[in-house]
Amino acid sequence: MRRFVLLGHPVGHSISPAIQGAAFDEMGLDWTYEAIDVAPGELSGAVDRLRNGIWRGANVTIPHKQAVIPLLDELAESAAHTSTVNTIVRDDNRLVGHNTDLPAFLKDLGTNFDLTSDVRPDIDLEAEQNNRAAGLDAPGPGTGLILGGGGAARSVAFGLAQQGLNLKLIARTMHSARALAEDVVRKTSVDVAVLPWECDSFAEARRDCALIVNATPVGMLPHEQSTPWPDEIALPEKAFVYDLVYTPSETRLLRDARLAELSTASGAGMLIEQGALSFELWSGMRAPRRTMRAAFEQALKSSTSISGDREVLNA
Ligand code: NAP
Repeated sequence: MRRFVLLGHPVGHSISPAIQGAAFDEMGLDWTYEAIDVAPGELSGAVDRLRNGIWRGANVTIPHKQAVIPLLDELAESAAHTSTVNTIVRDDNRLVGHNTDLPAFLKDLGTNFDLTSDVRPDIDLEAEQNNRAAGLDAPGPGTGLILGGGGAARSVAFGLAQQGLNLKLIARTMHSARALAEDVVRKTSVDVAVLPWECDSFAEARRDCALIVNATPVGMLPHEQSTPWPDEIALPEKAFVYDLVYTPSETRLLRDARLAELSTASGAGMLIEQGALSFELWSGMRAPRRTMRAAFEQALKSSTSISGDREVLNA
């Protein structure tokens, strides 16, 4: 039997054990997956336990996705590029960190929204690069607007930069958002602007944004009446709105966007895909995605139908 674990704080009503448990059952694997609450001061001890053999692999969630990096032996390219780890594979006592959030986000976004034709319909990439080399401003394709500057924003920012999209970040804590922006600019060829969490920033960003990604927990149960977008600023006239939050399945941001006739997607597809990619790293088998989605939907239904029991779901 192999044991796997989710390390986070809090992990109260995480859906990952249900998703992974369903995948193990479907594939006939005698494996288990548990979520344990690991406060920041306990992370190093938990990683030692992982290295010494209790668990064969782990997922890592809030607030440990960056803090875990110095405790690992090696980073796969996905984790090294983004400086974020959400999956650990143990090989004997060597721990290798991976990031499955980035490919999961891009894959799910791509099933809903075409980055090349929806955002950059008339852009000649070669001409744009020549302009840049000559110190000229690129013509104005839509930008990707990311709300938040934490761990998930990191995966989203590198994912969108990989697609060549210029970015704006609106964040509450400017120094971490600036560090993220500098990292993206250093490693990719896109421009990244950082704006403070103020109405003026939303008013400015709405002018040219083609894609909005909420990478904050604002709007998540039990605060489903909250939205990161200020009431006094209209949403852009044309933009795709992606909310990493998946509880509720339609957040207030997504509802407001739908009412403004914008296309939207929630983070459910990303959550299932990042879990599927973790499963594939641990098992070497193709993940049973349909089964994982059914388990996600079932777990979501039961966790939100228990009266008064509507805690935050992290991963
Ligand atoms: P994180 O590292 O804790 O970062 C959260 C970010 O949101 C920080 O920039 C934080 O700003 C900002 N924030 C929090 N409350 C805010 C508020 N009231 N107003 C403005 N900004 C606020 O968390 P994370 O890992 O990035 O996760 C963010 C969200 O994405 C969570 O809801 C998580 O569940 C979700 N997520 C979903 C998936 C998926 O697969 N769908 C994957 C990863 C994450 P400060 O630094 O100022 O606190």
